[in-house]
Amino acid sequence: MKLMKRYLGSICLLGLLAILSGCVTEPSALTGESRSYGYTWRQELELGRTSDAHLIQQMGLYPDDALASYVTSIGESVLAQSSLRRVGTPEIYRNLEFKFRVMDSPVVNAFALPGGYVYVTRGLLAHLSNEAQLAVVLGHEITHVAARHASQQALKQQWGQIGLVAGAVIGQGITGNEQFADQFMGWGGSVFQMLTLKYGRDAERESDIYGVEYSAKAGYAIGESADFFNSLGRISAKSGQSLPSWQSSHPGAGEREGRIRQLAIDWGNTFPDLKVGEAEYLKEIDGLIIGENPRSGIVMRGKFYHADMGFQFDIPEGWQAKKEASSVTLVDPAGRGILVFSVGKGSTPEEAARNFVTSSKVEPLRFGKSTIGGRKGYVVENSVATSNGNMLVRNEFLSHRGEVFGFLSYSKVEESKRYRSAFSSVSESFGEIGNASIRDIEPTRLKVVTAKKQDRFSNFIGTEFPYGMDETDLAIINQIELNTVVEPGEKLKIVGN
Ligand SMILES: [Zn+2]
Repeated sequence: MKLMKRYLGSICLLGLLAILSGCVTEPSALTGESRSYGYTWRQELELGRTSDAHLIQQMGLYPDDALASYVTSIGESVLAQSSLRRVGTPEIYRNLEFKFRVMDSPVVNAFALPGGYVYVTRGLLAHLSNEAQLAVVLGHEITHVAARHASQQALKQQWGQIGLVAGAVIGQGITGNEQFADQFMGWGGSVFQMLTLKYGRDAERESDIYGVEYSAKAGYAIGESADFFNSLGRISAKSGQSLPSWQSSHPGAGEREGRIRQLAIDWGNTFPDLKVGEAEYLKEIDGLIIGENPRSGIVMRGKFYHADMGFQFDIPEGWQAKKEASSVTLVDPAGRGILVFSVGKGSTPEEAARNFVTSSKVEPLRFGKSTIGGRKGYVVENSVATSNGNMLVRNEFLSHRGEVFGFLSYSKVEESKRYRSAFSSVSESFGEIGNASIRDIEPTRLKVVTAKKQDRFSNFIGTEFPYGMDETDLAIINQIELNTVVEPGEKLKIVGN
């Protein structure tokens, strides 16, 4: 595993080192006063743009345009009330366009990148109960962008210039959930920690306060969001995510809940008729996928299956498999043989192989036609010098249903014979899914229902839950307890298809 981390880490550092931070003083879009930042506004825009593309590739967008437009419309209504759109705010800020994105992850989180990028996961959307809660979450993230918290933090931390982008995403979500970051960036241990950047308590408090203000001005009943922060506390308590680092830098969910309740009382006096938007919100998330989506890739009983793309391949016994949005990485128990399966860049195996040769910038040891699992393919072999010695890098390309895929394997040159058969057992096993129940597998979806009788919540939810979830998770999603008595007419989020 060590090898892979180093490899991934170094790619990332190289990419990010291109923009170095210094110290700039520019007016704050939040308050108008001068503040110091690690990056100029222009640099932040560039960092945001490139990292956004990277993030979409890693994590994947949730494929629902109607839901994305809905989230954007709420985000824009809050943004319109923010200091970024105020008369008198410098034009560079006023003209900033935002992108609001729904990411295809079951983990509960929301986060922002410099330059106007705000993300919510489908896992987060499942846990919200109404528009007002969504508005406050988006307002919080909009404030991180407006206040340039990542850029401020880069100035405080010496290694900030290296880790800013990854850290701004990784370390900071609305939940402070580090496990989430680890999952989707594919980093663990020291590389992950080095790249972790936190905005700090003051920045989080500022985002809560301004986020609530903007949402109230946009007409939302901000007190509603206190219940969501209560849910966050339950999620972290249930999964044991309250790590010491999380505690010390991120305000506790309880503290935030209390702060939001107080702010709601204050703003409620100024704006008495605030919108909750429960029916509107639940209509939008009815049918939302919850938990892992088995169609977009699952590891089961020694095989990897991708039902949407219609293929499977074997995983050698004892090897670890890690799935990301557009790749699967297999690592042998000793951590010395690595195989990465992903979509090839090209419309045929030959074109993908040529593009791989061009991008790897070394004369290939071998380049030519090959047969992979009975299919016509192309293979490229390189020897690459790294800090770990010379590596044999082999990439096999094949096509399936009009899409080109590559099996990229690495091992030390002197160990390559040892790994050769394991690597080829994977690529040779590539083919159509044999098992019909896996071919037709469906993800679990949220179903919004109206209670017809008075009963405890636990009596409405059945016994089948998405992989990795239980009845308590469903209660948290509904922001109630299992034994809460539900009244006729109340809306509930249950599991259905
Ligand atoms: Zn935050």
